Amino acid sequence: MIDPERIIEEFCELVRVDSPSLRERAVVELLQEKLAELGIDSEIDDAAVALDGEVGNLIARVPGTVDGPTVLVNAHVDTVEPGCGICPVVEGTVIRSEGETILGADDKSGVTIILGLLRHLQEEKLPHPPLEIVFTVAEEIGLCGAKQLDYGRLDAEMGFVLDGGRTMGTITHAAPSSYRMAWQVHGVAAHAGVCPERGVNSIQAAAEAIAQIPLGRLDEETTANIGIIRGGEATNIVPALTVVEGETRSHDESKLEQQRRTMVAAFREAAARHDAELSEEIELTYRRFEIDMHEPVMQYAWRAAERLGFEPTAERGGGGSDANIFNANGIPSLIIATGPAEVHTLQEWVDAERMAESIAWLTEILGMIAQDASTQTA
Ligand SMILES: [Zn+2]
Repeated sequence: MIDPERIIEEFCELVRVDSPSLRERAVVELLQEKLAELGIDSEIDDAAVALDGEVGNLIARVPGTVDGPTVLVNAHVDTVEPGCGICPVVEGTVIRSEGETILGADDKSGVTIILGLLRHLQEEKLPHPPLEIVFTVAEEIGLCGAKQLDYGRLDAEMGFVLDGGRTMGTITHAAPSSYRMAWQVHGVAAHAGVCPERGVNSIQAAAEAIAQIPLGRLDEETTANIGIIRGGEATNIVPALTVVEGETRSHDESKLEQQRRTMVAAFREAAARHDAELSEEIELTYRRFEIDMHEPVMQYAWRAAERLGFEPTAERGGGGSDANIFNANGIPSLIIATGPAEVHTLQEWVDAERMAESIAWLTEILGMIAQDASTQTA
């Protein structure tokens, strides 16, 4: 059976290896060794070149016990800051950090689950379709590793992203589109006491723009935020440069476009009013997806959860993940719960029992896919 002790041991081993985004070489090499111990060959793609990182994505192909649709199983290996020198503390089956760093269960819980899954399938000789195991790099800084994957070389017809929350049975089947936006408002510097009329105050122009923009939760599926503002040098200088950065997300493309236009127009108009120059950088960071209840990937996740007595729940996520990129590249992919709570904080924790359940859930999903494939060919 699935042994929580082994999960705890492997999880702690993984989080002790530092892997901030773009510095994932050590953990990827460790994973290559672990796959090799299971007799699984793996290769590293050349994402590192484009990303200027240490190492690319790690890809392994596991032949199926039956012919059937190839299934992508993914977790990302990078973690957010402060995430170096993580010292896991184990109490029973609960693991947390000692409090100075995050724990890194986002997404080392997913990585641990995939290793546990592969071991479990092998040891128990369980049926499964062909698998494409993809460990991505640089997820936390904009899904960068997943964006660099060569999708022409993947056969997967559906995917499971092990990067979910705490409650088993929760399936994230939708995520929003998102724009990242940055503006530089260029005013004119002048002495604030001697000749302010010669200056153009970039902070004032930026402030007027921001005041015009609806922010926060705009409706049940749309959000917007201004997250960074930097400007000015001294109280006696009319500030020449103000930099503002923000974002907007929506599950609805037309609402997203509407909010993007509102934000862009607010800055253009305020800059024009003040005779300030404006440069803007607007980037679609990822595109939305929504997987229908009737899609096979959803059916398998749902029914497998039911069989194990987890309460299946379909949730719309508020953030982007590698699943956005897989879906955009034609692999219908869901995010599956892996157990962690309070991720991206120093209080992050995970229960190994949940990780064991997540392994069981995936095992059940793969077994059902294999079963359907063999009845179809029989
Ligand atoms: Zn994550």
